[in-house]
Amino acid sequence: MISSSFAKKALPKKSKILVEHATIVTMDAQEKVIHDGCIAIDEGIIVALGSREEVMKEFIPEHKIDASGMIAVPGFIDTHIHLAQALLRGVADDLSLVEWLYKRIWPLQGNFTQNDGLISSALCMLEMIKSGTTTFLESGLHTRYGSFAIAELLELSGMRGILSKMIMDTNGYASATNIMHPGMVEDKDACLREAKQLHNAWNGKDSGRIGVWLAARSLGAVSPALLKEISQVASELQTGITMHLNEVREDSKYSLDQYGVFPVFHMQNYGILGRKTVFAHMVWATDDEISLLAKWGSSVSHCPSSNSKLASGIARIPEMMQVGVNVSLGCDGAPCNNTYDMIKEMKMASLIQKARLLDPRVLDAQRVLRIATSNGAYALGLQNKIGSIEVGKRADIALVNISNEHCLPSFSPVSTLVYSCSGSDVDTLIVDGRVIMEKREVLTLDEARILEEARKAASDLLARADIRINTHNA
Ligand SMILES: [Zn+2]
Repeated sequence: MISSSFAKKALPKKSKILVEHATIVTMDAQEKVIHDGCIAIDEGIIVALGSREEVMKEFIPEHKIDASGMIAVPGFIDTHIHLAQALLRGVADDLSLVEWLYKRIWPLQGNFTQNDGLISSALCMLEMIKSGTTTFLESGLHTRYGSFAIAELLELSGMRGILSKMIMDTNGYASATNIMHPGMVEDKDACLREAKQLHNAWNGKDSGRIGVWLAARSLGAVSPALLKEISQVASELQTGITMHLNEVREDSKYSLDQYGVFPVFHMQNYGILGRKTVFAHMVWATDDEISLLAKWGSSVSHCPSSNSKLASGIARIPEMMQVGVNVSLGCDGAPCNNTYDMIKEMKMASLIQKARLLDPRVLDAQRVLRIATSNGAYALGLQNKIGSIEVGKRADIALVNISNEHCLPSFSPVSTLVYSCSGSDVDTLIVDGRVIMEKREVLTLDEARILEEARKAASDLLARADIRINTHNA
């Protein structure tokens, strides 16, 4: 199977688009909201914004979108996803992280073919588009998933995305060593070679819509020498680094036992901290580690559903933001969430902090929307291009219907979005000035084909890995 098997046709062209009658939640520096507003888009850029009279002065649209009853928000930016886990939805419910990895995820991923990698990525991208995500950061592709075919699929999907090649040289995880499924173990030199090739071939493609970073696998799977090498390669390529860190308590213990310091200090010692570094999770970060992240300008990708479902803990997000850490949001993977729905993720992020700190104001709707949009753009170094609806920025916009029964009455558009909506309320999605979903019809990917192939591939994969899921889950 090849990438174009899942594409409908050529990408929609970047026409002169007028979005009209929208409640525009700009997320600009003033976080302005424009009622009954218009957005004019030309050649992928937002060229005018405001009332109909202001916008229509010199603009002749080729394509009009009536957004009555909808809010226009910056497309969501998911800074921690696993494309290759969409196919594993529901295979490991109600297990703790370590068991979840050893018993189900690694044996299944270790049996992946490149076809599985492609089908899973198509399913994941389809779900992201249908729930309003315009940009994502992939947390690390194994060679067996077929990173080049996935890059082609990303190009065809019309989404904005950053791919990364997983880099490793040992096969441990936190408290244990030599426990990774043999199908997951990769050679260090081959990892670095593929990472560079993927970067050369795809980074910056289509006016920067596609990017390529490096992914350090985990604390227990990357030696200090390799961390140093990853840091050097990232600075040579002028690209970013992403990594899972401080996800479970065992991470701190492992780092202290092996290296005598907490994980973030260990990363500092080997050059991993920097402005273009995104750490997923950070549930168990100490105060000193949080201060260090703020000092270096590294970002955190908060994954509240994953951390809750795997019983890993609750990250101290308000405390991190208080000292200046840039916090963004991630859905992680289908087996630990089980969806790639950033609207649901925003609600989860907000509610768990209120309950933890007994304070309803601690992470309000406005701040959580910032985490899912402008903070995500900052984490990826794309804050001058995306993350808000402003003249001069790339047109990455989600139109969300807030007129359904579960949204009414609606007094504050941002509160309605965060607390009442879900991804299925997203009506239309524009990425880089192309309409890639209109009235819930995805225009770039072949939805029926993806669903059919995903069903088939998932049952073949389980049979190949000799894993049976009973109806009572684990
Ligand atoms: Zn993850």
